Amino acid sequence: MKRAFIFLCVGFFIVNFSAAQSSNIRFTIIPDILRPGDPVTVAVDSPAKNVTLLSGGKQRAKSAFFIVPAEDQKPAFMAAIITIPSLVDPGPATLRIELESGAIRDVSISIEPREFRSETIRLSPAMSAIVSDPDPQKTDEAKLLWSILGYSGNEIYHSGPFAMPITSTRRTSIFGTRRVYQYPDGKRTTSVHEGVDFGAPAGTPVFSCGAGKVALARPRIVTGNTIIIEHAPAVYALYYHLERIDVKEGDLIETGTQIGAVGSTGFSTGPHLHWEIRVSGENTDPDEFAKRPVLDKDLLLSRINK
Ligand SMILES: [Zn+2]
Repeated sequence: MKRAFIFLCVGFFIVNFSAAQSSNIRFTIIPDILRPGDPVTVAVDSPAKNVTLLSGGKQRAKSAFFIVPAEDQKPAFMAAIITIPSLVDPGPATLRIELESGAIRDVSISIEPREFRSETIRLSPAMSAIVSDPDPQKTDEAKLLWSILGYSGNEIYHSGPFAMPITSTRRTSIFGTRRVYQYPDGKRTTSVHEGVDFGAPAGTPVFSCGAGKVALARPRIVTGNTIIIEHAPAVYALYYHLERIDVKEGDLIETGTQIGAVGSTGFSTGPHLHWEIRVSGENTDPDEFAKRPVLDKDLLLSRINK
């Protein structure tokens, strides 16, 4: 009798332990097909802390959950916007949802293959100096940029699809292009082009792709006259190489507000707009956010309530 009691207790604890490890939450992930560079939204019906993308045994992205407030008789829920960085290899991966209770829910996903272009850029001595010369100001500018991009607020300024930031449709470089930089001394480095470049004459108006708050509006050594706009928790749009900045830090702006004009300031070979979207500091394909809403509240809610 005594032995049976002990077994029962052990059984009880095992059940509780497994409940804490894998909670029965309702969740949904969009889109259904995931590729390198795609933004991903995760919604849950329970209090949750963050979601992490694990690939090849490494953490590749991490975003905090935020509350999507109740509206028009629709209940509140929690969502997180994360991205699959363009350098993540296709294949099996995991989205790890961490709940406020400490419980973990690992969701297996499959990242589909995606082709990216490649290009080689020869740098003039002046261009080479902009990226290579050590300068404490560049270090300070980088620290400020990363502190902004790493901040995840609670405000959803924009939830629909993004608008194009310029009327020009001439794209001189696209998202995810693998770049080789060839330096005057023969050195070569590789990088990924993390935004979209639109070729346009200097002075061409640049518009905000969505509603938001200006987080940064100032000159930087590498990116020239730069604007960063916060649109949703952890979601920022960046505009580089501007000739002119027409907004100031802290301004609240609408979709289509003129924020500046095309230029060729900083590390740039000619007048163009570099437009980039970051999610928790990681690159994401701006076109994906132009095709579908940044936060599709109705679709998320209908899928977690199914
Ligand atoms: Zn660019």
